[in-house]
Amino acid sequence: ERRVFSGIQPTGMPHFGNFAGALSNWARLSAEYRHEAYPPQQSDGPLAHPSQLYCIVDLHSLTVPRRPGAPTPAEQTRDMAIGILASGVRAHGYDGPAGPSNPDVVLFCQSHLHEHSELTWLLTCQTPMGMLRRMTQWKDKWQSMNKATTETENLGQGDPENLLAGLMMYPVLMAADVLAYRATEVPVGDDQRQHLELARELARMFNNSTKRTVFPPPRTVLPDLAPGAARLMSLRDPTRKMSKSDPAAGSRLMIDDSPEDLRRKIARAVTDSEMGVTYEPDRRPGIANLLSIMALCQNDLRTAADLAAGVVHTPESLARDLAHAGHAVLKQAVADALCARMAPVHEEVSRLRADPDLVDEILRMGAERARAIARETMVDARAALGMLERW
Ligand code: ATP
Ligand code: MG
Repeated sequence: ERRVFSGIQPTGMPHFGNFAGALSNWARLSAEYRHEAYPPQQSDGPLAHPSQLYCIVDLHSLTVPRRPGAPTPAEQTRDMAIGILASGVRAHGYDGPAGPSNPDVVLFCQSHLHEHSELTWLLTCQTPMGMLRRMTQWKDKWQSMNKATTETENLGQGDPENLLAGLMMYPVLMAADVLAYRATEVPVGDDQRQHLELARELARMFNNSTKRTVFPPPRTVLPDLAPGAARLMSLRDPTRKMSKSDPAAGSRLMIDDSPEDLRRKIARAVTDSEMGVTYEPDRRPGIANLLSIMALCQNDLRTAADLAAGVVHTPESLARDLAHAGHAVLKQAVADALCARMAPVHEEVSRLRADPDLVDEILRMGAERARAIARETMVDARAALGMLERW
């Protein structure tokens, strides 16, 4: 049976890169409804376990120390939850503009379940240190700090010996997230591939050493995204990724930006000094990025008639249509598509912000249903290790 798990860190309100590269994919998946799991005549009975679990991984974000004055994890978690729901993820308990609540989908907060931490420990005790040291993300961090020999290069980093153990354990926690639900499919970005391989390896090792099949190997699924969507670029420097950590707020579009904000940011986006419009991501990254944003929005705005007619917008097709347009005209067209696409999302963010109890209730319900699965896994994992049964 198919079960999807995917997580995102509580970084506050998501930006348009998060939306394009992760949340819109969740939203699309969450529209799938397992009819056979909920026969209408039994709709009052207990629900089957959800087959899609979306998790705000606040324990993961504790691996990076919080800046003084930054929003609290609670605020960041709630904002991320609002952003996820407003992006159209149809979680249990949430009737939104994208459609009615889907009981097959849950949204929850990682730390609301102690099973994540507990399973992390069981897995940690089966994980050779060398496997963690070989993780590229850890290795890069470690080496970059070792290479920094002068005080200035080291600014804000310091002695690699001070790197937090939690950061090294990060991939084990991620494995626990996935394995606690015996997820079969994990949609992740390319950068998380290696961590998921580790999760598969830990599952295999646990099964082998206990001679029980406690954990099915989770499959990595790279979401099928539109061109450019996996890596939208900064509006201020199109050679760099659009990112929450860029100090320039004008470098990223936020999903709760007002239409005026969106228009202003697009109008100021860095392009190039060439005439006309072409889609050449390597040579003209600024223009290519704008075309990717526009194609994404236009596709989401297609009507039923467009879909029936097989209309598909691509950055290339838009570049052909706009070949002789000036950059101002291009930007106007991009801003129009962006505002039309994001207006309902922006509106929904405001509605949810005004109703924090609803958001908390969705997360509570999600945690309860997720826990029912994780609890069963813990019983099996503990039994496989031969631990004393608990009451
Ligand atoms: P940072 O740049 O500081 O790492 P971030 O903005 O990339 O932060 P993450 O929390 O690392 O945010 O990413 C959350 C999800 O959003 C991931 O699935 C990631 O692939 C996706 N994502 C992040 N930035 C972009 C982007 N520019 N384009 C497309 N997808 C993105
Ligand atoms: Mg990132």
